[in-house]
Amino acid sequence: MKSSAIPLPTLSGFTERNGSWYAEETPLADLAQKFGTPLYIYSKKALTEAYQAYDRACVDSNGKRRARVHFAMKANSNLAVLDCFKKLGAGFDLVSGGELARALAIGAEPKSLVFAGVGKSAAEIAQALNAGVKCINVESIAELHKINRVAQELNCRAPISLRVNPDVDAQTHPYISTGLKGNKFGIAYHEVLKTYREAALLSHIDVLGIDCHIGSQITTTAPYLDALDKVLDLVAHLHREGIEIHHLDLGGGLGISYGEESPPDITDFTNTLLNRVAERGFGHLDIVLEPGRSLVGNAGVLLTQVEYLKPGVEKNFCIVDAAMTELMRPALYEAYHGIIPIKAKAVKSASYDVVGPVCESGDWLGKDRTLAVEEGDLLAILSTGAYGFVMASNYNTRPMPAEVMVDGKNVYLIREREKIKDLFANEHLLP
Ligand SMILES: *Cc1c(COP(=O)(O)O)cnc(C)c1O
Repeated sequence: MKSSAIPLPTLSGFTERNGSWYAEETPLADLAQKFGTPLYIYSKKALTEAYQAYDRACVDSNGKRRARVHFAMKANSNLAVLDCFKKLGAGFDLVSGGELARALAIGAEPKSLVFAGVGKSAAEIAQALNAGVKCINVESIAELHKINRVAQELNCRAPISLRVNPDVDAQTHPYISTGLKGNKFGIAYHEVLKTYREAALLSHIDVLGIDCHIGSQITTTAPYLDALDKVLDLVAHLHREGIEIHHLDLGGGLGISYGEESPPDITDFTNTLLNRVAERGFGHLDIVLEPGRSLVGNAGVLLTQVEYLKPGVEKNFCIVDAAMTELMRPALYEAYHGIIPIKAKAVKSASYDVVGPVCESGDWLGKDRTLAVEEGDLLAILSTGAYGFVMASNYNTRPMPAEVMVDGKNVYLIREREKIKDLFANEHLLP
């Protein structure tokens, strides 16, 4: 399929006016001039609108809150982004001690934090218990016992949910599918009841809830409803056995449009799930949703400058100053991102592979893109607000890019460009 036929994603924070692209009220070209490239740019308006789309469905027609939104911060953990969500009322889903430290650094309420992840260390478990998080999501029987031991050492009780692997096919990329039997995530469906019985007997464990997260970039509602029904069946079964579940964590994973996809509307999607919970008689549960990508993915772009145009026999290359080090998704998942020149230009267009300067053939950002560009032009790589900066690396001793947040006409530098000398400041020569 020719990529030129792929439409642009719907963006609320970025618009084209008279042939130039803007982040809210600020021309992207001004940002490149002021902060340099490669540069991540986020729109406060876009992330606020995405949050509010979830939150609208979390409050019923009588104004009663029926669910809460926890931002899955692995999608974008910049402190300013987290702080915006905190001020909107979000809690957070964390997957490491490092992320817990970030949440505490912005003053997030510990009872608004859920600690998930498949391989928590004893130190991370202790860190979470000392912080007083709302819940630790448990992904194996071995982990359950480790949490019990750590809680015993700390002389406290650990609030836990079990992460259920519901064995549903989320029909997404295999690397981001997590709810199938063959995935490393969660406790196998047929072992869940047994594991709850075991948990209920442990001295330093409080069974609080149940959790499920079936994958990422999921663009239909059906797999969620399948997973939800299977989880609610378990809650009912546990109730009959005298094990009460108070908290239901429905995971994240709702997809965004990178161009071709048409995922469900956030509010409709959330209403569908929460209505199903209510219809089945579980409306009294404390419900948490943990979206990541759908809150920030289309709230960010990566700005990059064309270094060289390199015509070839089979391919033309457009070599830019961003690379797999700034945006790993194409190299890792063969992910598609829209790429646009930020100013329309009357030059001849050609088909290019847009690639970075890193010494890997996997270092590409877009393939077969029709672009009207010249050396020195600026390109915006779209839909990069989620799993963009957070996956960046220093490979080839490349410094981390800067990040800015735009709020109307105001622009804030929210992370400085890394300095090269800092890249090896922690290294030591032999004596
Ligand atoms: C990654 C993750 C999320 C968020 O997934 P998105 O696809 O970004 O919405 C939510 N919950 C858990 C447990 C995760 O690991």
